[in-house]
Amino acid sequence: MLKASSLAQYTRSPEWATKAIPNFCEVCFWKCAKWVNLDEDGNIRSLKGIDDDPHCNGRLCPRGTGGLGMYYDKDRLTTPLMRVEGGDGQTFKEVSWDEALSFIAEKMNSLKERYGPESVALFNHGSSGKHFTHLLKAFGSTNITAPSYAQCRGPREVGFKMTFGQTLGSPEPTDIRDTRCLVLIGSHLGENMHNGQVQEMSDAIDQGADIITVDPRYSTAASKSRYWLPIKPSTDLALLLSWIHVIIEEGLYDKDYVEKHTYGFDRLRHHVKRMTPEWCYGITTIKPDLIRKTARTMAGASPAVIVHPGRHVTWYGDDTQRTRAIAILNALLGSWGRRGGFYFSEKVKIPSFPTPDYPKAKWSWRELLDGKYPLAGLSVSQTFIEASIAENKSEHPIKGWLVSGTNLPLTIPDNSRFEKAVQDVELFVAVDTMPMEVTGYADVVLPECTYLERHDDLRSSPHRQPYIALRMPAVEPLGDSKPAWWMARELGLKLGLDAYFPYEHFEEVLEWQLKQLGTSMEEMQMTGIKRFERQNPSLYLKDEEVPYYNTLSGKIELYSTELEQHGFDPLPNYVAHPEPPDNYYRLNYGRAPMHTFSRTSNNDYLTDLMETNTVWVNPRVAKIWGFKKGTKVKLRNQDGVVSDFPIEVRITERIRWDSIYIVHGFGHNNKKLTKAYGKGVNDTALITKVMTDPIMGGTGMRGNFVTFELIEEPENATI
Ligand code: SF4
Repeated sequence: MLKASSLAQYTRSPEWATKAIPNFCEVCFWKCAKWVNLDEDGNIRSLKGIDDDPHCNGRLCPRGTGGLGMYYDKDRLTTPLMRVEGGDGQTFKEVSWDEALSFIAEKMNSLKERYGPESVALFNHGSSGKHFTHLLKAFGSTNITAPSYAQCRGPREVGFKMTFGQTLGSPEPTDIRDTRCLVLIGSHLGENMHNGQVQEMSDAIDQGADIITVDPRYSTAASKSRYWLPIKPSTDLALLLSWIHVIIEEGLYDKDYVEKHTYGFDRLRHHVKRMTPEWCYGITTIKPDLIRKTARTMAGASPAVIVHPGRHVTWYGDDTQRTRAIAILNALLGSWGRRGGFYFSEKVKIPSFPTPDYPKAKWSWRELLDGKYPLAGLSVSQTFIEASIAENKSEHPIKGWLVSGTNLPLTIPDNSRFEKAVQDVELFVAVDTMPMEVTGYADVVLPECTYLERHDDLRSSPHRQPYIALRMPAVEPLGDSKPAWWMARELGLKLGLDAYFPYEHFEEVLEWQLKQLGTSMEEMQMTGIKRFERQNPSLYLKDEEVPYYNTLSGKIELYSTELEQHGFDPLPNYVAHPEPPDNYYRLNYGRAPMHTFSRTSNNDYLTDLMETNTVWVNPRVAKIWGFKKGTKVKLRNQDGVVSDFPIEVRITERIRWDSIYIVHGFGHNNKKLTKAYGKGVNDTALITKVMTDPIMGGTGMRGNFVTFELIEEPENATI
């Protein structure tokens, strides 16, 4: 076990070395607040959720508990690295921080001089990104992007904004603990271990809530459900429209709510008139009586019903319209602003530490859209990649990349575009705790210490009550790794941006902010989190209250006037998507409760629980191919891309015959990840067909098909 040494650099009181240190988890982005318990020698002994934190209620998920593996991982990056010029392109040398940061500053200044500061972009995910965001804005660029938008939850934010006038954010304001009916569409809560939500779902089930799961796979959530609808993939929108049809035609909607709060009901009614369960059956393979029964179950629970908006919703390129249909269904059931439906969340506004105004950027990510995706609320990562490819001759070229905490080759679909862009950028800096694939493409690699070894911004997330949580280092950074705030500040000083970093240590910023909020580091060290009073005392709509909704009509828009203004369908329409060719199967991917994307697949503690992914194959398909238990295959997609490594077949009735399923985040091809290298298949590499959402730029990734290349038959195998 590695030992922590002196903590004097980070603390004012050495006594805390034997106490619990407050932190919040960074293994996923639910950010559960936790205590880091140290033993008398200052080693980390355990991690424990903070009881009063609504993100976790004192209980961490398996990944959160195993977060310690991130700190002890023997493959961690511990010193800055620079690519050896004139070498084989794959060789890096160890350098000092001064050399690495001076090189980056010199390159950034050169790009600024030749192309403007806007030519430097930031790709980020997680807490560290905030420090580099501050640096980049001070430098003069607002070209900042995160794949969590266009590759993940962006469509639902726009779908709900078009309907209710506001986005959902994270955590979603779903009142699961009090719901009587929860509908999950391609959303596998439980395997997708968003802690507080999963706990609430479990409590709701105990209290008799009905779960309805729509999924081509018999997920863990499906196993807890009253109804499992094994839908034909890519037809979910047809089911949603048919549910809307039943709820309207059978008069099951919340009439008073619809009349008072919504706009466009008659047009919606007319629109779905022909979308009967019988029409839907031919598309989805879900029987009409089951469509009617489930619609009635939802209506019976109204308004304490949630048709869950989902999280990773970039599937088929019509995702904003699908999530619009989800939002419309919730509106008809009267669940928005109602107990057991969606509550009105609040968060603490963290005061900004005083620094000069940022210089005004001459152009930003909006210009990169070039008239496309008019309703994108945040930047669209793939447009940054396209603007970096020289042959595109972008009017607004991106020339330098800072990449913090996001493993782009396993995140952005169609790797060929990423690889092309990498050849053309003049500066590529990767900041990470681990030698993820992305670091292999960088000119400079900056080793970040883990969340257990650093300060970051205060956590302030929307919830039933406003809360803040503090992250403090429990142990000293390993090797020569550093916190992101330190890197951003040092680089800022080298760029002459001293005025934006008027502090020696980030603790000064936190102290100042906490003082403005009426608390202090001392108090937060004792409590870890702090709860504040709500501004609006009510979590739900009051009787007879009809608020102004931030849409063009001021109402909940069943019929979207804003979409209409932009030339899009004001009401969602089902359009059929391509189906797999003969001997190909739809590639479905998802999550496992013990892993977060590709970031945990080298973690000793978590690979003990799950070391690799397998490919789920229906017995009918296994029979056609002659697969037996333990057969190993490679996967080849419709464009001829073959997986780097083989994967074991798992024969199970839990997946439809027209699809296969793998857990995302495996198939690492960087040998420096000694535990994860060569284990399983990387689904992102097989996603070469992208169906882009014209409304907001989401990259639909579920339209890819794979077939099998037999690698190895097991001896004495049986089905
Ligand atoms: S859900 Fe699990 S991994 Fe995510 S923040 Fe919470 S404890 Fe950490």
